[in-house]
Amino acid sequence: MAAICFGGSPLLKHAEFKLCSLVVCLSLLFAAAVSAQSVPNFDGKSWWEYVKVLADDNMEGRETGSPGYQRAAAYVVDQLKKDGLQPAGNKGYYQPVKFISRQIDESGSSLALVRDGKPQSVTLGEEAMFSTRVPLAPETEALLVFVGYGLNVPEKNYNDYAGLNLKGKVAVIFTGSPSEMSSALASHYQSSAERAKELRDAGAIGFITIPNPAAMDIPWGRMKLARTRPSMSLADSMFDDWKGIGLAVVWNPEFAEQLFDGSGHTFTEIAALGKERQPLPTFPLPLTIRAKTKLITKHLESENIVAKLPGSDPQLASQYVVLSAHLDHLGIGEPINGDKIYNGAMDNASGSALVLDIADKLHAAGVKPKRSLLFLFVTAEEKGLLGSRYFAAKPTVPKKDIVADLNTDMFLPIIPLKMVTVYGLEESSLGDDARQAAKDNGVEVQPDPEPLRNIFIRSDQYSFIKQGVPSLAMKVGYTKGSPEEATAMKWLHERYHAPSDDLQQPVDLAATGKFEDIMADLALKVADAPKAPSWNSDSFFQRFAGGK
Ligand SMILES: [Zn+2]
Repeated sequence: MAAICFGGSPLLKHAEFKLCSLVVCLSLLFAAAVSAQSVPNFDGKSWWEYVKVLADDNMEGRETGSPGYQRAAAYVVDQLKKDGLQPAGNKGYYQPVKFISRQIDESGSSLALVRDGKPQSVTLGEEAMFSTRVPLAPETEALLVFVGYGLNVPEKNYNDYAGLNLKGKVAVIFTGSPSEMSSALASHYQSSAERAKELRDAGAIGFITIPNPAAMDIPWGRMKLARTRPSMSLADSMFDDWKGIGLAVVWNPEFAEQLFDGSGHTFTEIAALGKERQPLPTFPLPLTIRAKTKLITKHLESENIVAKLPGSDPQLASQYVVLSAHLDHLGIGEPINGDKIYNGAMDNASGSALVLDIADKLHAAGVKPKRSLLFLFVTAEEKGLLGSRYFAAKPTVPKKDIVADLNTDMFLPIIPLKMVTVYGLEESSLGDDARQAAKDNGVEVQPDPEPLRNIFIRSDQYSFIKQGVPSLAMKVGYTKGSPEEATAMKWLHERYHAPSDDLQQPVDLAATGKFEDIMADLALKVADAPKAPSWNSDSFFQRFAGGK
């Protein structure tokens, strides 16, 4: 929408109405009814200029803690300065965060399945791989138990661990959830903090996950290439999720049948049920896993970036609406087709560019939101939402004053914008705000069409949700079975987390412009509303609201 009056002067105040002719007044009144303030239309072109810088080979894929990330961060800070936005970190625009990185040394590591006392070695990379998200114990030997989806959801009276003895054993989990579970609920209970707690409460000392072949964003062939890259966790012990868990392995579904031999069940049967989100059986497996691991551990630091557009209303200016995007990506890795730089143009130079573009345009247009806007660029999203987790737990503004997070991660403007997918649409009053902002721009919204992919907890909004802050994320949407869906799926399989997510891919600037219009309208709508956003009374995530 974004009506422009007086040769582009974007700021409309009621006092100015008397200066207008009747016709102009009517159009102004209409604009004012839609949004109290107006910003210029976005066309996607300025956005692409930012993407070109952030996803340039020179940024080397913006790996957390790397010189490439530091260059990207310095560029972002320069732009924010140029835009006249205030620093709002605890070191100028920066909020430094300390990390521990872990990398597997496969030459000193091994994995074997022991059946009837006979060990059978497992080929790392081919059949299975260690996950270094978990601080792996040097040695583990334990019996295996298949725990289905590995979910314990009291709200649904659902517990995969019921009746199983997991004391000192390793749980085997098939990723996914039964259809009776809403995507928000299923996503929450599959997050690492919840996963670790369930395993620990059940007495397990480790776990093997078998990805659901029906919901694998990245084919195994590409997953295995990343297995020796470092994982990270926050150095501050208050964020240590994995206490007591010493083994984490991801199993290639193509080689999963061997885990079920002699159990009376087959993996084919399990995968068929899981594909349809049917209930899964749980049972002990007649097998022991034997693991030896060697880790290379390092300490490092990387920064979040925080800038502020101060609010104008004396009552509301102390409150903050956060616009967030992760700046980090995967850095330099195993080459694919001769290219080793994982540029992350869509993931997530695109979101960082959108936040920069909106910050720039709002400030340049002299827009004065009632609440303050906080522009947040977080690090280490790719390592498990770590930068945002740190910021949401230890924000550089008072935690109680953060009223909303609007996150943008890989919004995929690679198809025309006919619809917006809103993650968290049914959870808080922000859902209706998003619906309205989209409608004002002639676009419909839809909830998450692919609950199996857990998008709601797979980006930084989730860090805010866990601190009680109503949040959402949006993407360019498509309907099931449409050609747009085919384009998006092809992108996921070919470019997601691959070096080809670079500047040599087609993007739709018109779709981007409209998406930015919606995002900017939404941010202003929330910033100017008399009441702060609130969780819906039936939202599962309302439970965290006390944490603020
Ligand atoms: Zn990513």
